[in-house]
Amino acid sequence: MKIIANFKMNKTPLETKDYLMNFLSRVKECPHEIVLCLPFTSLFVGKFLTEGTGVKIGAQNICDEDEGKCTGEINGAMLADAGAKYVIIGHSERRTKFKENSKMINKKIKCALKHGLNCLLCVGENLVERNTLKTAEVLKEQIEDALKGIYENELEHITIAYEPIWAIGTGQHPTAKEIDVSANVIRKVISNDFSVQAGEKINVVYGGSVEPKNISQVSKAKKINGFLIGGASLDYNNLLQILSTLK
Ligand code: PEP
Repeated sequence: MKIIANFKMNKTPLETKDYLMNFLSRVKECPHEIVLCLPFTSLFVGKFLTEGTGVKIGAQNICDEDEGKCTGEINGAMLADAGAKYVIIGHSERRTKFKENSKMINKKIKCALKHGLNCLLCVGENLVERNTLKTAEVLKEQIEDALKGIYENELEHITIAYEPIWAIGTGQHPTAKEIDVSANVIRKVISNDFSVQAGEKINVVYGGSVEPKNISQVSKAKKINGFLIGGASLDYNNLLQILSTLK
């Protein structure tokens, strides 16, 4: 399974160092692929401390341009050089708060792939869309917009994170059955747009209020390949507990 942590805007480099010193010694022999998506300023310390451990580090954003006048942005080459193997793209907080549109998200994916980064493409419906039964429509549109011009052989570097907006940081989450329904929608979109094999092979993870207390429930979902964990991952004990439940 892929277990991905999203630290969001938390932890200074020193706090990241402290976290990693405690976490890494306890995840030796872990059968899962662990990716910690750190703030930009913690990437370098993350790279240094995770070297040779099997734990990977990722970033939470990437510039949609490779060069140019982009004050305050970080491009794919910089992320790769700082040690990132993954990058989160299209997180709902960036789509809403930072007004990232589908065209930008598509460009970001292309920039990430160009620099050898694996993409964690976040998609998901808001509460109104859920209540008006528009989830499938929203997922299809978000995926198709994001993957315009992407080749089938590039899909192995793309993981789709199903993250219903109403579940992020709220303590609420869909049932395992609902997660599977959405994961099937995602697989069907990929299978229609690429191939049946691609739909089966694409990595899909679930994110939204995953915590030690609900991991045994949500992990009953059979159509996903792992989890994206935000708030709960900030305490390494929580992440370790989640990992041990998934063993
Ligand atoms: C996230 O921010 O991607 C996320 C899943 O957050 P949380 O686990 O806190 O809901």
